[in-house]
Amino acid sequence: MIAVGPQDRVFVLTGAGISAESGIATFRGAGGLWQGYRVEEVACPEAWARDPRLVWQFYSMRRQAAGDKKPNPGHFALARLEERLGERLVVCTQNVDELHELAGSRRVLHMHGRLFQSRCDRCDRAPFEDHNTYQDQAPRCHCGGLIRPHICWFGEMPYELDRIDDELEQCTVFVAVGTSGVVYPAAGLVARARVKGVRAYYVGPEEPANSGLFSQCFYGKAGELLPGLFVTTQDTEGRRRH
Ligand code: NAD
Ligand code: ZN
Repeated sequence: MIAVGPQDRVFVLTGAGISAESGIATFRGAGGLWQGYRVEEVACPEAWARDPRLVWQFYSMRRQAAGDKKPNPGHFALARLEERLGERLVVCTQNVDELHELAGSRRVLHMHGRLFQSRCDRCDRAPFEDHNTYQDQAPRCHCGGLIRPHICWFGEMPYELDRIDDELEQCTVFVAVGTSGVVYPAAGLVARARVKGVRAYYVGPEEPANSGLFSQCFYGKAGELLPGLFVTTQDTEGRRRH
């Protein structure tokens, strides 16, 4: 059980594992390969520079694969926790799918971008919603630049880092779900939380690479563990304790 008192602020970091039970493969689960390419070879700026068409084929396939997927009890459990905690809960996700939002979560930071958004690779036009698939060539912006997926590729800087810093600074409970602890800077967030004495928990079926940094690990599937994991104590009990 993870106790959440009236003064607590909860920072939840999710990875591909939370969407696994919804049928969206983790890269490792899929063997790390797509049509004979290593995923790292198609999800990087070098691939975009070399062959934008190939990159769009990969993301078109991912859009198609994610399009009909539904949130699972793990996503719903976090949305219900937000109903109780309001602004005292934030979900920082490495996932590019929309399943947290579809479950009802509102305070979601997509540090690695969003599968159903695109942006220009030249001008500073804001990312926009885009459900299209592109097989033949990359679409062009009115400025002449190429439209690319709004995804943080390997070697690029993640998004929302300022807001992530703020939320991390304020949190008193840190929970990581379904993330192997090898993709940085996400894998380093728990260390930053621990430095300031925050309780940190891990939820997932396997030991993460950074398991030593957690106060406690709950081993199992997110969809099975999360719905019963959090106990929120009422204001009155909180006051009595203080
Ligand atoms: P990862 O490094 O986050 O590893 C997946 C983790 O999920 C593993 O630790 C595994 O033990 C765990 N897991 C598997 N089933 C689970 C379950 N039912 N409940 C809880 N945990 C479970 O992810 P990756 O696949 O190696 O991907 C690397 C990068 O690509 C990350 O940024 C990742 O988030 C992103 N990615 C995103 C999606 C998505 O948007 N859904 C899918 C694939 C990859
Ligand atoms: Zn443009």
